[in-house]
Amino acid sequence: MTGAEALPPFAEDIFVSKGKGVQLLGSRCPQCGRAFFPRTGICPDDGTATEALRLDGEASLYSFTVVRTKPPFALPAPYPVGYVDLPKHDLRVFMLLDPDRIDALEIGMPMRLASGEMGVDLKGRRCIRPYFTPADTKG
Ligand SMILES: [Zn+2]
Repeated sequence: MTGAEALPPFAEDIFVSKGKGVQLLGSRCPQCGRAFFPRTGICPDDGTATEALRLDGEASLYSFTVVRTKPPFALPAPYPVGYVDLPKHDLRVFMLLDPDRIDALEIGMPMRLASGEMGVDLKGRRCIRPYFTPADTKG
């Protein structure tokens, strides 16, 4: 992981990764409290300007699928994607899931946010990417 820390993130303004700590960058409406990811500038419910919110990485798996077509961005093949629920923010997000744990995925299971070197970014550079993995994944 030492060399990987020097790699660029997949995209700016999506997440922050520091060592083993990783957080998704969302936003929150100060008027109604609704959380968003990816972040949005204006709450669609009441038009209020949102504020930055670092999302808690504790989640449960709502639904998932395994993509078996040729992957974009040099992702592993196959790779899983899915919706995870973040109970602290009453928010459901669509994210990449851990390609090394496909066989372990079960709807409703506890998940946590992780990050690591995976695939390439929009400029074709190797990069760090956030993904959700089963909560019992080591490392
Ligand atoms: Zn609002």
